[in-house]
Amino acid sequence: MNNEFLASKDTRILVTGAGGFIGGWLVKNLIEQNYINIRAVDIKPKEEWHQRFDGIENLEIDLQGFDESKSVMRDVGAVYNLAADMGGMGFIENNKSSCMLSVLINTNLLRAATLFEVTRFFFASSACVYNTFKQQSPDNQGLKEEDAYPAFPEDGYGWEKLFSERMCQNFSEDFKIETRIGRYHNVYGPKGTFIGGREKAPAAICRKVAQAKITGIPEIEIWGDGNQTRSFTYIDDIVYGTQLLLHSDIKFPINLGSSEMVSINQLVDFVEDLAGIKLIRNYNLQAPKGVRGRNSDNSLIKEKLNWEPSIPLIEGLSKTYEWVYNQMKSEGA
Ligand code: NAD
Repeated sequence: MNNEFLASKDTRILVTGAGGFIGGWLVKNLIEQNYINIRAVDIKPKEEWHQRFDGIENLEIDLQGFDESKSVMRDVGAVYNLAADMGGMGFIENNKSSCMLSVLINTNLLRAATLFEVTRFFFASSACVYNTFKQQSPDNQGLKEEDAYPAFPEDGYGWEKLFSERMCQNFSEDFKIETRIGRYHNVYGPKGTFIGGREKAPAAICRKVAQAKITGIPEIEIWGDGNQTRSFTYIDDIVYGTQLLLHSDIKFPINLGSSEMVSINQLVDFVEDLAGIKLIRNYNLQAPKGVRGRNSDNSLIKEKLNWEPSIPLIEGLSKTYEWVYNQMKSEGA
């Protein structure tokens, strides 16, 4: 990793959304690399953070406000902005205004960052920025970065991400701050949300299969007809790629996603194999299902960074299923 601009491990690093799934793993990794000045911030009560670590600053703050954003920016050298009100399809289709309001977080963090000596600012964007008309077939050949335009993203969540991407770029043009934008594609792994309405497909399917395994009821509900396709990116690839991008000179939005595309039915096949069971599949055609086909085209990241997310789905799912299964078992499915 090119550490040119973060020469010293005592640079103060701000991680927002640190109480969330990706934020928790990122903070852990930064600590493992001996960054000693980490400020972890989340709106959630600390007891609800996915992971929390001693020896760093852990702050419970709502970053939609400008004063609050200024308060966390003091002495910060680099920002990873992961804070957003978000979830899987079930959440973003039914909470569009909440998703849109995350624009306040990125807006006020950027405004605050310009008042201090922040040199780098990472924004966690999403594959939901891509034009939905380019995702109508299950055999999607991979979305290239330019496929976000002409703009017709996912309503609510996708529009907020696309607008915030542009705001990052405009701040870079007008101020000294350098922004970096990663378009995450469906991130999964242990310690992710797997229940409660915000969970995404891999965690939801691991939970349903684990439930079937534990209860002995051999059935699973699948949202849609199961032929919709996606690629899923393991958390370790995201934690690495996010830092690689922050340290790079890439000023434009870039895909951070696996290009191993599978249908939801294939995803269920994988998890069934891991669990050693076969289930009766009940397809719920009324449930939120999102676009028909989505995959990440990684030509640009390979060209620019000589790297792409490459942890095989079966490998990541194996760790995720084991973690979800153990959670379910200990909580009594
Ligand atoms: P997450 O929901 O687990 O984490 C986001 C965190 O932001 C939460 O802990 C939440 O409490 C916090 N937050 C929300 N509003 C806040 C506020 N006003 N002030 C402070 N904190 C606030 O989600 P995640 O999966 O860890 O995602 C992290 C980032 O990556 C988000 O920006 C998300 O949109 C983006 N992203 C994630 C995925 C994915 O598959 N997980 C895909 C694309 C993009």
